[in-house]
Amino acid sequence: MRIVLISTPIGFLGSGKGGGVELTLNSLVSGLLNLGHSVEVIAPKNSKLYKSNEKAKLHYVEGEDQISWQHQNYNSPVIIPDNSLLAGMLEKGLEIAKQSDVLLNMSYDWLPIWMTLNLEIPIAHIISMGSESSVISNLISNVYSKHPHNFAFHSKTQAKDYPFIKKPTIIGNGFKLDNYIFQDSVKGPLAWVGRVAPEKGLEDAVYVANELGEKINVWGYIEDESYASKIEKSFPEGTVDWRGFLATYELQKELGKCRVLLNTPKWNEAYGNVVVEALACGVPVIAYKRGGPSEIIQHGQTGYLADPDDKESLVSYIEIIDKIKRKNCRKWVEENASTNIFANKVVNWLNKVINEYK
Ligand code: UDP
Repeated sequence: MRIVLISTPIGFLGSGKGGGVELTLNSLVSGLLNLGHSVEVIAPKNSKLYKSNEKAKLHYVEGEDQISWQHQNYNSPVIIPDNSLLAGMLEKGLEIAKQSDVLLNMSYDWLPIWMTLNLEIPIAHIISMGSESSVISNLISNVYSKHPHNFAFHSKTQAKDYPFIKKPTIIGNGFKLDNYIFQDSVKGPLAWVGRVAPEKGLEDAVYVANELGEKINVWGYIEDESYASKIEKSFPEGTVDWRGFLATYELQKELGKCRVLLNTPKWNEAYGNVVVEALACGVPVIAYKRGGPSEIIQHGQTGYLADPDDKESLVSYIEIIDKIKRKNCRKWVEENASTNIFANKVVNWLNKVINEYK
């Protein structure tokens, strides 16, 4: 299959601004190449793919980023800036799609989904978030009624945000396992990883660290400075050890030394890449039973699931984290979320989409 992938219009690949989509795209390219497919990627200028993905042709586009939907009001109208990066990536996609079998859109945005109604070339969409915008959800509903195969979701819980989709295609996600080294560090510090933004609920993890009289290591791109400084001021100095945004290899080296990852989202997390990355290093995860993490974590086997927003329960699960065998965590990723497993699911889905257009 010849597949053209369109990246997120928020930040270049490797910047951290695009969140989990950056890693998802790279994992997918690895898996697709490994299965023998031909891949071209359209992405913002300065984007980088994994070295091992060099067989994929990368097309750079310059332009203005979109505003992330999770930071706008649910009922906001669509805003497309002048010199739009999204429009530029789509134009490039249309240009090269003529020699391809399918366009695969990875941006959660209005324009590429709307184009489905007006294109003769197959275009498929990986929806990377829960319902964060009425205009996008209504558009998905409209397009779905005409093209029911063209959407895929990362988790069942995420897909429930789109109740009009009766039988959602669930593709999970994939991780290149040789990028993550198993470590048996049962006595390490507490960890939290993610974009530092309100929907990620960092304050609850810091609360837990403070209750235990420990510090917590925090890795990730600080998207919302005022939110970060509010957290910093709400707890004793030194409770948060800000470790910055690291590339995958460096991140996993540090993360693997931790005894547990806390994952405390306040929104319907579509998947939760960082949960699987921790497991791949052998780090058990304690998360709220909310969104993707509630389908990934095997309660009592690879970590614990607490009732949403129940911080005290997070504290009590940390006290028994040594009951989790770290090898089980790694094993779950190997058996459920490798790049090949992921790419196979995506290819099966894309075949259905392509067949619709024949
Ligand atoms: N991440 C990273 N370096 C860091 C912290 C985070 O590369 O120091 C990446 C991480 O690998 C993951 C992404 O940031 O792929 C966060 O994705 P997730 O699905 O957890 O949440 P999202 O940001 O998409 O809401």
